[in-house]
Amino acid sequence: MELNYEKKNIWEELSEKEINEIFEYGERYKKFLDNSKIEREATVTIIEKAKENGFISLEEALKGKIKKGDKIYLNNKNKSVVMMIVGEDITEGMNILGSHIDSPRLDLKQNPIFEDGHMAYFKTHYYGGVKKYQWATLPLSLHGTAFTKDGKKLDIVIGEKEEDPVFYISDLLIHLSKDQRKKSMDEGITGEQLNVIIGHRSYKTKDEEKNPIKDSVLKYLNKEYGLVEEDFLIAELTIVPAGKARDVGFDRSLIASYGHDDKVCAYASLEAILKVENPKKTAVSLFVDKEEIGSVGNASMGANFFQNMVAEVLNNQVENYSDVLLRRAFANSKVLSADVTVAFDPNFAEVTEKNNVALVGHGVALAKYTGSGGKFGSNDANTEFLQELRTLFNENGVIWQTGELGKIDQGGGGTIAYILAAYGAEVVDIGTAMLSMHAPIELLSKADAYMTSKAYEVFVK
Ligand code: MN
Ligand code: MN
Repeated sequence: MELNYEKKNIWEELSEKEINEIFEYGERYKKFLDNSKIEREATVTIIEKAKENGFISLEEALKGKIKKGDKIYLNNKNKSVVMMIVGEDITEGMNILGSHIDSPRLDLKQNPIFEDGHMAYFKTHYYGGVKKYQWATLPLSLHGTAFTKDGKKLDIVIGEKEEDPVFYISDLLIHLSKDQRKKSMDEGITGEQLNVIIGHRSYKTKDEEKNPIKDSVLKYLNKEYGLVEEDFLIAELTIVPAGKARDVGFDRSLIASYGHDDKVCAYASLEAILKVENPKKTAVSLFVDKEEIGSVGNASMGANFFQNMVAEVLNNQVENYSDVLLRRAFANSKVLSADVTVAFDPNFAEVTEKNNVALVGHGVALAKYTGSGGKFGSNDANTEFLQELRTLFNENGVIWQTGELGKIDQGGGGTIAYILAAYGAEVVDIGTAMLSMHAPIELLSKADAYMTSKAYEVFVK
């Protein structure tokens, strides 16, 4: 009988064979990261994978009779996805994995283009929690969707191919930053200074152009994409760090990338549900948008698209559909709120408490509660549910630990956990512990990413 609890180090616990699997998983995950920087791209990647694995769209499924074992996906607004494998009786509850596929970034303002100092710029409005100074002096790329006036839809990615140009936000040279360096980090670079350089050359023109550089950028955009300035007023375009996910360390044991929060849990949920066949309980992976700005809007967990989907499936399956069936389905469900948490960083040891913070390489991190200032705003998971999970994980070789988002009163954060909990489902936050969360390039352990997927897999199976 082990009296004392001690965390386990994945690298030390696993067999050589499983360590190999960690690295293979890392390769697949990096590919996902590179193709899915924004929610629209992640939606495309996830649905492609779903279709390859026999999932059909909800519309298609509703044409026939939905039965046990059917694999169904829902594309919600091209920004969020539900993958569902139908079990015996949905009213007995579902096993749900809920991750988000949006990450902090710099969205273009609606009227973004201007020129100054013989350079052309995009004005941006940051999305989600960012430390603004981190976004300067990095190679940046442009992603998103725009419409031309005649209705042509353009999915744009510029700055990711080797031969593509990138974009850039300047910072003040050290030589002249005497005053800037006295400011707080919050004020060193302000939101309105996050202006992205997009061009500099002007064409020689005979007429008196007021903004020759802006005009030359517009000429280029019109030639290449058929866009005019008015198209930007309604577009969804965003700036993210350019470049691919990279291995970190001599031993290649970590990954540095944009968007680990929450692509690491999204990808883990994707691989997990793809391994499920014919489950007793309906298995679901949710990939939602807008978590980083509070889960509002019709692509977010706060919207009803998932409930509507379950209602459609139930209505297809039973003779007399009623609201109470839907309520039962949700109240009997179990949810892993699949989101990242903080890992201990010795550089900033003072903000975490060493007995309760997650450690890199020590397994998927279960956070009974999040919130801030006295657990405020937290979904505090029930011990009965946690007991079930502990047993499940221990019996199936899942290395897990607990995590806490910082020392008491140091700040905090939330996830989508509270939303499904409101329907009566059992919900707990469980995901990958990481460093530099919300930085342009974040860091995590391949061992933890792999173990996250393993935990999700045993849960949905
Ligand atoms: Mn997150
Ligand atoms: Mn986040």
